[in-house]
Amino acid sequence: MSVHSEIEWTDATWNPVRGCTKISPGCKHCYAQTFAERFRGVKGHPYEQGFDLRLIPEKLLEPLSWRSSKLVFVNSMSDLFQPGVPDAYVEATSRVMITANWHTYQVLTKRSERLHELLSQKLQFAAMQQHIWWGVSVENKKHGLPRIDDLRRAPAAVRFLSVEPLLEDLGELDLSGIHWVIVGGESGPGARPIQKEWVISIRNQCREQGVPFFFKQWGGVRKKTAGRLLQGRTYDEYPSRVVREIPERSRCVEFAEKLSQHFRALLFANKLVRFPLST
Ligand code: SF4
Repeated sequence: MSVHSEIEWTDATWNPVRGCTKISPGCKHCYAQTFAERFRGVKGHPYEQGFDLRLIPEKLLEPLSWRSSKLVFVNSMSDLFQPGVPDAYVEATSRVMITANWHTYQVLTKRSERLHELLSQKLQFAAMQQHIWWGVSVENKKHGLPRIDDLRRAPAAVRFLSVEPLLEDLGELDLSGIHWVIVGGESGPGARPIQKEWVISIRNQCREQGVPFFFKQWGGVRKKTAGRLLQGRTYDEYPSRVVREIPERSRCVEFAEKLSQHFRALLFANKLVRFPLST
């Protein structure tokens, strides 16, 4: 986990899965891949295997040990709903979110069909929780708009869009059933340009349809210079968050032990782990 994430719209990241495969133009300059591949072959490094998909069960219980309430970006270095992550593992990750409910979780995917399918069936127990926000990435019309429809059809208490990197004008958007929109331009070497009009159009539609709007960045090769002002101001809006008391440390240890037993049975039965989970 990274307690102080540099991502503008979250506090912390939690990665019980590492690695992913590219599926659409938004993945072209995937920061997670660039980071992970730097460490391929470095003995003992968490990314020794580069960006290859790996389940990290020893990370599953991590949020239970955090003693302050955080906004947590789930799998910032991966995509929980990619085909290589078994249903049982997605379920285990969701069980932790249900138990450590003093945090708010942001689960973002490009695999919206599977998100829809699991929230409608195996993840029903987690779908309608106010402290778990389910989101899809939207980089363009062709790939992004169908994801919005999948998300809208999924049962979920809080749904959000990460419109980043924004690659073209998205035109008219149906934001019904959507509770938050983040917009950002691509950053880093080779960043594809964003246009002000595209961002203003989304902001205006959020205003008209009563959806909180967060403008992350203009991006570009020097993203700090480009900043994040839109027409002279920042936009840092969020959906409302549930505030819950953090249980005593001893209670959290009990929760972790109980979950650990459940996961051993669940994950061993599915042949997903070869070693015990630490509490
Ligand atoms: S889905 Fe996300 S994590 Fe996976 S390759 Fe694309 S940008 Fe990277």
